[in-house]
Amino acid sequence: MINQNYLKLPGSYLFATIGRKVKEYSEANPDKSIVRLGIGDVSLPLAPAVVKAMHEAADLMGREVKGYPDYEGYDFLRETIVEHDYRTRGTDISSDEIFVNDGAKCDSADLGDIFSLDCKVAVCDPVYPVYVDSNALVGRAGDYLTETGRWSNLIYMPCYASNNFVPEFPTENPDLIYLCFPNNPTGAAVTKAQLQEWVDYANKIGAVIIFDAAYEAYISEEDVPHTIYECEGAKTCAIEMRSFSKNAGFTGTRLGFTVIPKELVRDGVSLHTLWTKHQETKMNGVSYIVQAAGAAVYTLEGKAETNAQVAFYMKNAQIIRNSLADMGYTVSGGVNSPYVWLKTPGSMTSWEFFDYLLENANVVGTPGSGFGSCGEGYFRLTGFGSRENTEEALRRIRAL
Ligand SMILES: *Cc1c(COP(=O)(O)O)cnc(C)c1O
Repeated sequence: MINQNYLKLPGSYLFATIGRKVKEYSEANPDKSIVRLGIGDVSLPLAPAVVKAMHEAADLMGREVKGYPDYEGYDFLRETIVEHDYRTRGTDISSDEIFVNDGAKCDSADLGDIFSLDCKVAVCDPVYPVYVDSNALVGRAGDYLTETGRWSNLIYMPCYASNNFVPEFPTENPDLIYLCFPNNPTGAAVTKAQLQEWVDYANKIGAVIIFDAAYEAYISEEDVPHTIYECEGAKTCAIEMRSFSKNAGFTGTRLGFTVIPKELVRDGVSLHTLWTKHQETKMNGVSYIVQAAGAAVYTLEGKAETNAQVAFYMKNAQIIRNSLADMGYTVSGGVNSPYVWLKTPGSMTSWEFFDYLLENANVVGTPGSGFGSCGEGYFRLTGFGSRENTEEALRRIRAL
């Protein structure tokens, strides 16, 4: 017998549909050049310091045996992470609380494994689909309701313009709360005071927050926390996920890490111990070459080069945000995140605006409704394109 939950998943409807529509349009209009600002993938190559470290690591592996790495990652990387990402922020995370992985997506999908299937899960709407779909595959989300596009057993926390795209506490108490700030897709950020309220709330009701900080490097404002552990009491309620994908262009290299503080205990059991068992059972570490490349991101050269990449994408986001605002669009995001979230004009749905932009400007973005029903009437553009494409897209949108 198969896991029937897999059949309940409606599938990668969003990006499949975008791909099909773009393909159909370009086949019918072969003379048109299409500009894509829908992607969540980087467009700059790896930084020279990173490539150099990869080469050196490969050479080293040709001279001496580097067998199975530790499940939790090499100490040299975990210590570097602690020093640069946590100690500098005044937090006392220790290196043995870091679990190195091959990117944040896997852990954001797998962390649910250490919790009971009876846990009630809360997610933002709109949301990064992995949190929802991974819970659906194990049966924790209930049934998919086509009419609403929602799962019967999830708690949805709407993120609207009226709450600045930061959710309010749900009316029903959740056991697991997925939060992602700075946010994909809305680009919204939380202040430290706002995140502190969530930490206090989780500690009060005994919930665990799974905090996705994949866009930490894009934070530009002073009062936005870089890690949830800047909040008091977070070590007894929060797991944090980080990625090298967006700050250092590792989307094709694969590297990330998860932080599980040792104080985080539920049912009298340390979640750190449970996750150690999970990793020992289900993974065999991340390659030495990739971890060496990751450590190079923290060197002086690596920092300068990757900061310049982030600044480049942020400049794109700023160009998108400012130009659209100048044209009269209602926009948010793009300040602490590479994503700009815009209100579709008039009463256009997200997909109507997608078609309108594709057909009239030959520009591709991402319909907000694809991230959840509260994303209806919104549209996501990303700063991850080239400067030329970004500027060209805006020229075309302005000409409409
Ligand atoms: C891109 C992204 C990640 C990172 O995924 P990787 O597997 O590390 O490439 C995680 N969370 C969100 C919300 C993202 O947009």
